[in-house]
Amino acid sequence: MDNTISRNVQNIEISGIRKFFNKVINYPNAISLTLGQPDFNVPDKIKKAMIEAINENKTTYTSNAGIVELREGISNYLKTQNINYDKDEICITVGGSEGLMDVFAALLNPSDKILIPTPAYPAYESCVKLIGGEIINYSLNSDFSINFEELKSLISKEKPKAIVVSYPCNPTGAILSREDNNKLHEIIKDNEIVAITDEMYSSLCFEDQYYSIAQFDDIRDKVIAVGGFSKMFSMTGLRIGYVCAVEGFMNAIMKVHQYNVSCAPSIVQWAACEGFKSCMEDVEYMRKEFIKRRDYLYNRFIKMGFESNVPMGAFYMFPSIKKFNMKSDEFCERLLKEAGVAVVPGSAFGVGGEGHMRISYAYSMEQLKEASDRIESFVKNLK
Ligand code: PLP
Repeated sequence: MDNTISRNVQNIEISGIRKFFNKVINYPNAISLTLGQPDFNVPDKIKKAMIEAINENKTTYTSNAGIVELREGISNYLKTQNINYDKDEICITVGGSEGLMDVFAALLNPSDKILIPTPAYPAYESCVKLIGGEIINYSLNSDFSINFEELKSLISKEKPKAIVVSYPCNPTGAILSREDNNKLHEIIKDNEIVAITDEMYSSLCFEDQYYSIAQFDDIRDKVIAVGGFSKMFSMTGLRIGYVCAVEGFMNAIMKVHQYNVSCAPSIVQWAACEGFKSCMEDVEYMRKEFIKRRDYLYNRFIKMGFESNVPMGAFYMFPSIKKFNMKSDEFCERLLKEAGVAVVPGSAFGVGGEGHMRISYAYSMEQLKEASDRIESFVKNLK
C-alpha cells in the first residue's frame, strides 16, 4: 500500500485535535474542551435565509467567485476593519480551509520555502506538506508575539517565498499589536515575500482596535487574506469562507478553486449574505460572551497557579504546563483518564506548542466551571 499512496500524503497525519477529540468518546463522563466550535446556534435569520434560498431554487452553481451580493457584503465588512478589497478581489470558498489550501497551491512550487509560526493551527503545515513545499518554522515570544529578530534573520538566510501570519491566534488567543503590525509591515515592504494572513477570528478580537497586515494599502500586492464565517456566525458545519487578494494572485487562486470545488454551496452563500445584513448584533453578543468566559477561565487558572498569557481574541487559552515535568501528550492523557477533562496537547500545534495545553472556551459556563474544578483537584494531587 505504501507504494500506492503519495509520499506527500504519507508525510502528514490526522490532526492532533481530532485525535484527542476521538479519544473522549471512550470516557462518557468526560468534559471535552477540545473543539474550536462556538456552542451558539446559527442565528435564526441566517437559517431562514438558507431555507428561503432553497424554496426559491437558488440551488444551482454560482459564479466561481461566488454571488456578488456576498462579495460586496464582505468588502463592506472588511472596510469597517480598515481592510480594502473590492468585490472582484474576493473569492468565496468552502470554509477558510479551502481558502488556505487554494492559496498554498496557487503560490508554492515543490521545495518552495514558506515561514509558518509555531505554535500554530496545524492545517498550515499539513497543507504545505501536501503540496510539497518546505516549511520553515518561526518561533514566537513567550507572549506569542512575533520574534522579529529571528524572523528577519530567517528571511535573509532562507529567502522564503511567503509567510503565514495568524492573529487572533488559534491556539494561543494572542492578537497582533499596533507596534508589531507596523514592524511586520516594514519587513514585508522591504523583502520579496508574500504575507498570507489568516483572519478567521477577526470578529473575535477583544480589544477595540483591530490590527492586521492586510490594512496597509502600499503592500496590497504582497498580501493575501483568508477569512470565514465558521466562527463569526457560528456556522462551522455550513462550510463557507473567503480569500481576498489583488488580481494577479486572485487569477491563480481562482484556477485552483474552480477545479477543486467550482463554487461554495449556493444556499450557504445567501445565508452568509443575510448574516451581514441582520446578524451583526449576534456576532457582538457572542464576542461579549466569549470575553466573560475568558475572564472566568483565566482567573481560575491563575488562581490554580498556572502561567498563561491573557487571551485577547479567538476562544482559546494556552497555559503552560512546563512545571509539571510531563510532555503535553502525557499531561493531557492523564487529565482525561484521571480527571475526566479533555483538552488538546500543545504538541498538536507544532514544536513550539510543547509544554502547553489548549483549552477551548467555546463551551458553556457550566462546563467551564465543572472542568476547572476537576482540573484544580487533578493538579493539587500532582504536587
Ligand atoms: N484558520 C484557523 C486559525 C482556524 O482555527 C480554522 C478552524 O478552526 C480555520 C482556519 C478553518 O476554518 P473553516 O474552514 O471552518 O472556515
